[in-house]
Amino acid sequence: MSTLINGPGLGTAFHEWMHSWYQGMMGTNESMYPWMDEGFTSYAAARVNSFYYHERLRLHPNDAGLQQVIEREKEELPLYHASAYNAYFALVRSGLEEPMTTHADHFNTNFAYSIASYGKGRCSSNSWAIS
Ligand SMILES: [Zn+2]
Repeated sequence: MSTLINGPGLGTAFHEWMHSWYQGMMGTNESMYPWMDEGFTSYAAARVNSFYYHERLRLHPNDAGLQQVIEREKEELPLYHASAYNAYFALVRSGLEEPMTTHADHFNTNFAYSIASYGKGRCSSNSWAIS
């Protein structure tokens, strides 16, 4: 797998790195089951991102920018993946939700595809991780 990142963005780097496991090693089929690929990847990338910022803060305790990131994350707890849940709730309210088993190329809207694959997949991964 090769990834081109054309700007600063550790989140994207973490996301693509996690694809090397959830698609590359696990062999999930991105077209048939996009939520398995993007959902698990998004879940794992969020966990890695959180670990990264906590470790950086441990090494640089006086970094005000890092402290803001950590505080913002604490506000989201206990919904560790609050942004994914909020995206999913927006999809439900829109009435455009489609089954997660829909082929990636057969969703009627990109909105439904992206939220089902990334957001709802991430929420599903989180549910499994804490249960
Ligand atoms: Zn992805």
